[in-house]
Amino acid sequence: MSNASILVVEDEPSIQELIAFSCSSNGYRVRRAESAGAAESAIRSELPDLVILDWMLPDRPGIELLRDLRVADRTRSVPVIMLTAKGAESDRVTGLDAGADDYVVKPFSPRELVSRVRAVFRRRAPQKSGEAIEYGPLRIDPARHEVAVGERPVKMGLAEFKLLRFLAGHPERVFSRSQLLDNVWGDHVFIEERTVDVHVLRLRKALMQAEAQDLVQTVRGLGYRLSTRPDR
Ligand code: CA
Repeated sequence: MSNASILVVEDEPSIQELIAFSCSSNGYRVRRAESAGAAESAIRSELPDLVILDWMLPDRPGIELLRDLRVADRTRSVPVIMLTAKGAESDRVTGLDAGADDYVVKPFSPRELVSRVRAVFRRRAPQKSGEAIEYGPLRIDPARHEVAVGERPVKMGLAEFKLLRFLAGHPERVFSRSQLLDNVWGDHVFIEERTVDVHVLRLRKALMQAEAQDLVQTVRGLGYRLSTRPDR
């Protein structure tokens, strides 16, 4: 069970209900918006883990909202699945060009939509998929809350586990302290940035159990990354 949150942006009540029901019965936490404006305020109050976005909305086209999401730092990396009755190839291309992660054409089966959602999570946010993450010698099992480096189990606290799971979902990428706070501790959580340093330190210490502390690297002036490449 992943408990990832999905914002469903759809103005047609029956379709909104269908999507919300399929997602929540598959373990996702669902919030709903019936317009682009309502979606914006929902996103402002809490950053969703994924957005299912209808193209035709009463106030603005969904595609415009998508473009806005891709411009803002805070929302840039939120996965988006576009939903539309338009099946034309040009719309599909427009949607994908604007930064949609996938595209589902109405009418669709709820099962198909949920499997697309899973696939997008696997690709874009593996730490939210509930499936095991493997990177180099590292294996993280979110369901069992277990970490191993090669054959050696590594014990760590919950915050360190979440931090490692996030970093391992995006290996080689550098994250600033504030990005890590948003993604690991949750958006709008007021914790000082140096708290991140404390947990990175604890995570390295935990990884020392398997002599794997070098996996977590400091990138001066930028933040942290997980990498199997030698640190400079
Ligand atoms: Ca609509």
